[in-house]
Amino acid sequence: MGELANCPSCNKVFVRTIRNICPECFKEEEKMFDKVYKFLRVKENRSATLQEVHEATGVPETTIIRFVKEGRLRTATFTNLTYPCESCGSPISAGKLCENCIGSIEAELEIAEREAKRMPQKERTYLSDVTKDR
Ligand SMILES: [Zn+2]
Ligand SMILES: [Zn+2]
Repeated sequence: MGELANCPSCNKVFVRTIRNICPECFKEEEKMFDKVYKFLRVKENRSATLQEVHEATGVPETTIIRFVKEGRLRTATFTNLTYPCESCGSPISAGKLCENCIGSIEAELEIAEREAKRMPQKERTYLSDVTKDR
């Protein structure tokens, strides 16, 4: 059975089932998706940017971004449907960060990993020294 929850979109109390938003908001969202999709289906609109889609459909940019993140709007087809990287603001079409930022995070992680590996190595030599003495 579903539990009672507040809809994150309209704040109304509703019975949560498989969706996180209330049925009315879900319906609204589907309507918005239809609008966006109908607009983008027109060949000359395929290269529309986020702003252009927003202006043409009236759907909030954050909602369009969510459609992109959920994979409902394929940026492989709608190539200009990008949104800013959460770290540096350059246009991206998947996830939260651009490739550059992901790259620098990975580099940082690698350094952290190397630092972490240095410690147990010392311990290992210490342990083998101990066993040698036996
Ligand atoms: Zn709602
Ligand atoms: Zn970035």
